Formats: sequence, C-alpha cells, structure tokens
Amino acid sequence: MFRLDLHELLFVYAGLCLAIIFVASVLHNIRRSRGERLAHRGLVKCHLCAFEFRDSNSSELAHCPCCGAPANRDRVSRL
Ligand SMILES: [Zn+2]
Repeated sequence: MFRLDLHELLFVYAGLCLAIIFVASVLHNIRRSRGERLAHRGLVKCHLCAFEFRDSNSSELAHCPCCGAPANRDRVSRL
C-alpha cells in the first residue's frame, strides 16, 4: 500500500475533491448545452421582422406568422 505523510494525504484529498468538482462541472455544462440545443430545435427567426416562432412542418421554407414572409431554417444563435 501507499505510504503517505500527513501533508501528502491532505494534498491528495484536496486534489480528489477538486477533480470531482471539475468533472461535475463538465457534466453539468454538457447537460445544459444539450438541453438548450433541444429547446431551440425547430425555432425559426424571420429575417424581415425578426419574429421568432416554432415551426414543426417539414417544408423547406417556413412562413412567418407575423408578416407572412418566407424564413430560412438557419440556426438561431444565442449570445
Ligand atoms: Zn416576419
């Protein structure tokens, strides 16, 4: 078995705790980004009036319910 002094044991304990927090943070960010991506699926933004609407039709061009202009299905960016 490993033979550790007290200061080495504290260092290993702190390192393990930080590693657990880091892994939990990475997993949380992966889950959050996946949830945001799923929430924005089917979201279309009109290029004419900037109205955002959800369109589940499979047609190539969605029509804006606000102004009636055809809108491309580009990815809506969130900054
Ligand atoms: Zn529009």
